Amino acid sequence: MTANLLDFDLEGLAAYCESLGEKRFRATQLFRWIHQRGASDFSQMSDLAKSLRGKLEAAARIEGLPVISQHESADGTIKWLFDVGASNAVEAVFIPEDDRGTLCVSSQAGCAVGCRFCSTGHQGFARNLTTGEIVAQLWFAEHFLRKHLGTSDRVISNVVMMGMGEPLQNYGALVPALRTMLDDHGYGLSRRRVTVSTSGVVPMMDRLGQDCPVALAVSLHAPTDPLRDPLVPLNRKYPLDELMQACKRYLAHAPRDFITFEYCMLDGVNDQPEHARALIALVRQQGVSCKFNLIPFNPFPASGLTRSPQKQVQAFANLLSEAGIVTTVRKTRGDDIDAACGQLAGDVMDRTRVQDRIAQQRTVMLTPVPAGPVAKEGLR
Ligand code: SAH
Ligand code: SF4
Repeated sequence: MTANLLDFDLEGLAAYCESLGEKRFRATQLFRWIHQRGASDFSQMSDLAKSLRGKLEAAARIEGLPVISQHESADGTIKWLFDVGASNAVEAVFIPEDDRGTLCVSSQAGCAVGCRFCSTGHQGFARNLTTGEIVAQLWFAEHFLRKHLGTSDRVISNVVMMGMGEPLQNYGALVPALRTMLDDHGYGLSRRRVTVSTSGVVPMMDRLGQDCPVALAVSLHAPTDPLRDPLVPLNRKYPLDELMQACKRYLAHAPRDFITFEYCMLDGVNDQPEHARALIALVRQQGVSCKFNLIPFNPFPASGLTRSPQKQVQAFANLLSEAGIVTTVRKTRGDDIDAACGQLAGDVMDRTRVQDRIAQQRTVMLTPVPAGPVAKEGLR
């Protein structure tokens, strides 16, 4: 089996070049060809010595993911479905805005956390993506978009790890992918323009702060443990108090930053004024420097939940803002192509019992008994 060079960050590629008996600095040239120019063919790499090209042709490849489908929304949002084998698929979404181009990237086929309101969670977990499969989404999208828009300039300025999967349950593959995004010889994205979104895998938040302190978004969705437990099952393992402490530790690695708390607005569940007041108390008491991003829930039948009315969302946002917390309401984009949060539902083959667990949680939610099975981190 040849090595797929999309699997390497620059350091990894330098080690790989050494293993071929080449100088480490060759890796920089190669890395630039792959990520900055979108090359997939070694014969294109005219400034690499012929002998090196020959070695690479024999031992390596640059292989993206097969595209199953592409949908473009009326608002310019583009969604791709990629084949990751064994009947599994993952999605990436490009969201153009006036001042930026954001790519929403998947980290796993499915997800083992099993959040009640998330269709990826409802599908269960198939497997972690490799570094190459995470990077391939950006590699493909960036170079496709340059051609599509007829430009040689960079199109994607921001990456959010908010597609399918829990990135911090795929830590080993995530970090080299992030490094490739940040590397000046790769995509050259600034640390604050790459966001990892997590449901709250506390130990891995600490490691990310040390290894690669990019922007952090935390999916909060509830101000108290009894409400968060059934919505985000991982809360039973890492309850709110521990999560808030981890947020503070994270910010110690990223001074002048803030945590973005994501909060999915569920009608009659977590969208009442008392929930807003409890949230204000929570972040004040813990002293976490933060912003709130309220996400209108994207409903799907199996969830048994509905979207909060817009008036309710606005009233909730006002309460937070009046308390001095910067609060935004996420615009829904790409609704016509199902490209919105939590609807990234490329089929996966569940290799765990997540779906059973969710069915049980649903019972717990309907009959408010604080019981139910605890999500195991990194189930596979
Ligand atoms: N696993 C990570 C990142 C992927 S989910 C996490 O949970 O943070 C990205 C965001 O979409 C999260 O904030 C998640 O809570 C939100 N989300 C999931 N399902 C949703 C839905 N149906 N409607 C609105 N937001 C949803
Ligand atoms: Fe997984 Fe995030 Fe969906 Fe929860 S919201 S099931 S952590 S992808």
